[in-house]
Amino acid sequence: DFDEVTMDYVDDPVAVAPEPPQELTGPYAAEIKTHLNRTFGLETFRHNQFEAINATMAGRDVFVLMPTGGGKSLCYQLPASTRCKPKRIDAVLLTSTTEEAEARQIRDRFYSKEKPTLLYVTPERLKISASTKSMLSHLYRSKELARFVIDEAHCISTWGQDFREAYQGLHTLREDYPDVPIMALTATADRKTVDDILDRLRLKDPAVFEQSFNRTNLYYSVTPKRSVDEMVSFIKKSHPNQSGVIYRTGRDKCEKLAHQLRQKGLKAKHFHARLEKEDKERTQAEWKNGECHIIVATIAFGMGIDKADVRFVIHFDLPKNMDGYYQETGRAGRDGLPANCILYYAYRDLQPILKMIRDTKDQNTTPESIERQERAVRDVVRYCENESVCRRTQILQHFGEKFDKKGCRGQCNNCASEGLLVTQDFTKEAKAVLTLVQSLERGQENVTVDHCRNIFKGANVAAIRDKRHDQHPVFGAGKDMPKELVELLFNKLLYLDALMEKSIQTNSKWHNQYLKLGSAAHAFLTGGKLLQLSHKPKTPKIGGKAKTTKGSKKPAAAPPPDQEPPERMRSLYADDDDPMEEI
Ligand code: ADP
Ligand code: MG
Ligand code: ZN
Repeated sequence: DFDEVTMDYVDDPVAVAPEPPQELTGPYAAEIKTHLNRTFGLETFRHNQFEAINATMAGRDVFVLMPTGGGKSLCYQLPASTRCKPKRIDAVLLTSTTEEAEARQIRDRFYSKEKPTLLYVTPERLKISASTKSMLSHLYRSKELARFVIDEAHCISTWGQDFREAYQGLHTLREDYPDVPIMALTATADRKTVDDILDRLRLKDPAVFEQSFNRTNLYYSVTPKRSVDEMVSFIKKSHPNQSGVIYRTGRDKCEKLAHQLRQKGLKAKHFHARLEKEDKERTQAEWKNGECHIIVATIAFGMGIDKADVRFVIHFDLPKNMDGYYQETGRAGRDGLPANCILYYAYRDLQPILKMIRDTKDQNTTPESIERQERAVRDVVRYCENESVCRRTQILQHFGEKFDKKGCRGQCNNCASEGLLVTQDFTKEAKAVLTLVQSLERGQENVTVDHCRNIFKGANVAAIRDKRHDQHPVFGAGKDMPKELVELLFNKLLYLDALMEKSIQTNSKWHNQYLKLGSAAHAFLTGGKLLQLSHKPKTPKIGGKAKTTKGSKKPAAAPPPDQEPPERMRSLYADDDDPMEEI
C-alpha cells in the first residue's frame, strides 16, 4: 500500500529530526523568554528569532531573511514589548489614508508620558508628513527611539518586482538618526537583492540571519488538471471544513469557480482587485473567522494576510513564475502543521498566460521584460513536467538554494512516488500522432488537442464520427495507453516543439487553439529523433499529510486516477476562452 510506505517513512524518528533544544543565553535571554511566553503566549522560538531579537536589543543593525510564515513580526514586536509589562504591546498605525485628526492624536501621544511602544508607519506617509518626521526627531533627542524596523525590505530594491518608490527615501534614516539601530526583514531576496538592501539602507556591520527557504510542513504536488469535480472531491475528502485558497488567473474565473464550489456544497467566496473595499474586507474577515472556508482568488489576495491555519493552497491555473508560486504556497501552514500545496496542471494553460504577458503593456514593458516573463512561465511548465526531481529541490533552486532531497522526507509527490518512475521509448506513438496532425493539416482541417487525443485513443464521440475521423488510419492507435500517458505524450510533443498550438480566428469573436506541426516535427517523422517518456504507471495520491503525532489519521486517498471525466465536466475548459485579466 503506497500510503503505508510513505507514512512509515515519515514516522521514522530519525527522519523527523526534532528541533534542537533551545539554549537561550545572553544578557537579555530571561527577559526575552518571559515576553515570548507571557506577551505572545508562545512556547519556543522559531529558527533565528531569538538570535535576531538578541542582536537588535544589543543595539546592532540586523538583517533577517526568513521565508513567508517564518515569523518575522515577532523579531521586532518582541523587542518593542520588552519596555512594557508583560501582556501589553501598545501599537499605533499611520498610513497615507489615516485622517489628519486621528494622525494628530497619535502624534500627540508620542509627546506625552503614555507613549505607544510601537509605531507602524508606511514609507509613503513618512515621506509626505513633516509632522511625523519632527515627532521622530523629538523622540530621538529624548533618546526614546530604540530602533527602526523595515519590514518587506526588498521593496527598496529596484532588482525586485515589488519596488516601491517611497522605500527609496528610507536611506535618510541612517543620516538623520545615525546611532539608531536598523532592522530590515524580508522573505524575497536573492543574493543581489540582499546586497542591494544592505547597501541602500546603509547598514553598519549588520548581524545577518538567513535561513533555508524550505517549508518542511508543506506537501507539494503537481497533478493533471481535469475537472472541478475532481478537485472538489479531493477537498471534501482531505480538507473537510478546513481553510484554503484557490488561485486562478482571471477575475471572471474566480467568480465562476467560487459559484461552482458553492453549488457543490463548499463554503467558497471569490476575491480579486476589482472588488469594493468593503467586500474585500468582509470576505477576508469571514475567511479569517471560518464562516467561509475557501477563497478563490487572483494573486491580489495574500499581501498582508495572516491566517495561521490555512490547510491547502491550490493553483488551478498555471502560476506566472516560480517566485510567485512559492510566495502563494507559503500562505499555507503558517502554524507549522501539515498543509497541502497542489498545482493542477494542464499544458493548455500555458498559451493564455503567454498571451496575457504579451497583451499587458505599461510604461515598464520592454521586449526584454516580455521575454523574461515568458521564460519565467516556461520555468513553471518545466517544474510541472519534471516528475523525477524532488519538488522542493526544484523550487528552492529558484532561490539559489541547493536542497538535498533527503530533507524532503517524501513530502512531495515526486519523492513520494520515487521508484515508480519508468522511462520507455514512445517514438512509434509519437510518429503516429505527428502523422495524424500532418494529414489533418494537409486536409486543411482545424482540430484541437483534445480532438486529436480522442482520435489517437479511438474515443467513440460524436465530434469524431461527424468528421469521419474514426476512419483515419491512426484512429485508436493509442487505445491501449492509459489516459495519463496519452496526455503526457501530447504535452511532451508540444513542449519539444514537435507540435504547436496555433491561435486561429474562427468567427468574429473567438480565437481557438488548433493543433499543428511544430518546427521539430520533421526530426521525429524522419526517424532522426527518438521520444523517451518518463512516467509513473501508477499515479500516486495528489495530496499528502505528514504525521505530526503518532496515531493521527491516515490521509484520504486521491480520487481514482484514471477515471474518464464525463463530457459535461469538460465545460471546465470552456472558460479558457474568457478574456485574460491581470488581477
Ligand atoms: P512572516 O512575517 O515571516 O511571514 P509572521 O510574523 O506573520 O510571518 O508569522 C507567521 C505565523 O507564525 C503567525 O501566525 C505567528 O503567530 C506564528 N509564529 C511566529 N513565531 C512563532 C513562534 N515562535 N512559535 C509559534 N508560532 C509563531
Ligand atoms: Mg510579515
Ligand atoms: Zn521531495
